[in-house]
Amino acid sequence: MNSIKFTYEHFLQKACRQLGYDEVIFELLLTPSREIKLEIPLRKDDGSIVVFNGYRVQHHNARGPYKGGLRFHPAVDEQEVRGLACLMSLKTALVDLPLGGAKGGIDCDPRSLSHRELERVTRKFVEKIHRNIGTNIDVPAPDIGTNAQVMAWIQDQYSIIYGYTPSVVTGKPIVTGGSEGREEATGLGLSMVIRHHAKTHKLPLQDSQVVIQGFGNVGRHAAIELAALGCKIVAISDTQGAVYNPAGIDVQRAVAHKESIGSVVGMENVDVIDNSEIFSLPCDYLIPAALGGAINESNANRLSCKFVVEGANSPTTRVANDVLCERGIKVIPDILANSGGVIVSYFEWVQNIQHVHWKKEKVQEQLWEVVSEACELVWALSSEKQLSYREAAYQISTNRLKDAVFAAGI
Ligand code: GLU
Repeated sequence: MNSIKFTYEHFLQKACRQLGYDEVIFELLLTPSREIKLEIPLRKDDGSIVVFNGYRVQHHNARGPYKGGLRFHPAVDEQEVRGLACLMSLKTALVDLPLGGAKGGIDCDPRSLSHRELERVTRKFVEKIHRNIGTNIDVPAPDIGTNAQVMAWIQDQYSIIYGYTPSVVTGKPIVTGGSEGREEATGLGLSMVIRHHAKTHKLPLQDSQVVIQGFGNVGRHAAIELAALGCKIVAISDTQGAVYNPAGIDVQRAVAHKESIGSVVGMENVDVIDNSEIFSLPCDYLIPAALGGAINESNANRLSCKFVVEGANSPTTRVANDVLCERGIKVIPDILANSGGVIVSYFEWVQNIQHVHWKKEKVQEQLWEVVSEACELVWALSSEKQLSYREAAYQISTNRLKDAVFAAGI
């Protein structure tokens, strides 16, 4: 079920109404500037042909070039990409980057493609879309199912046509112009948001219990960074199952196990539990860091955490959001919680344009600055107007987006 459409539309509409905007402004902010749909044929290694659908939705660029990830996943469709593009505009506005919002995807399963097939799919996508991306036009980045290698192929294919242009993508390998600290940026940013929240609200972090659903790039780095802050990671799940140890899981071992056999299931000193059970475990912070819609009508009533911190994009459905609100479970929304990725993407873009390379310490200091500023605004507006964190975040970003759209002119 594609839940994202109703979720982001609803939250955006609510923000527009709370801000007293006319319905037409909501329509204006909701509707993407441009939607591109592409046929991506692939000749497989065995000679057979498959045809995938590719998408790029460019939501708004009034605040800067379109910016957002490229997702490779069989469930990718127009509606999902459209919703995720809108979320990117709100995310870049909330953390006040001079960037707009976009999202793209191909409905392929990268795990079922060989390395060379994946490369051909990626290059084909660029062959078809190169006129619509670029340093000052639209800058893709990694998302679910894509990584630094895929970005390097995009960069190379684009550079064949336009000359060496590292700033056309972010999340590249460091050796082709990527930024220090981009790989771990989303997970680190998420840990910074939790740290800032805990500091502001005087909540001890030491030994606080964390459950992480999804152990891909975001979940893995969030686990590492939160463990470094003294949190206890009590459960981790991936597509194969979930592991639990109320005394705390050794995160380095979990990472090593995942790297060697592709799952955390099978590691030592943990109980194996069902994937659905992870949502009802008692904890302080539950971090959904996999696909959208993970927290929904079927499990919202069972959650036993104090905070949901949205590592994934749109992991909480609209109905589940209401249930959590009624139950007093606070949600730190995706557009704040997972903004670390696009913030460091912005730093990468800046470094590429200036032909400089920052040290990791500088990247991480600047990340903290940007994250803290956004956190302060969200916590303050939420307490001043008695809003949920999501409502506060949406009001700040919607207002910024609207101001830019109107300043640029209709
Ligand atoms: N895909 C990431 C996101 O959803 C990063 C986007 C970017 O770096 O442009 O925020």
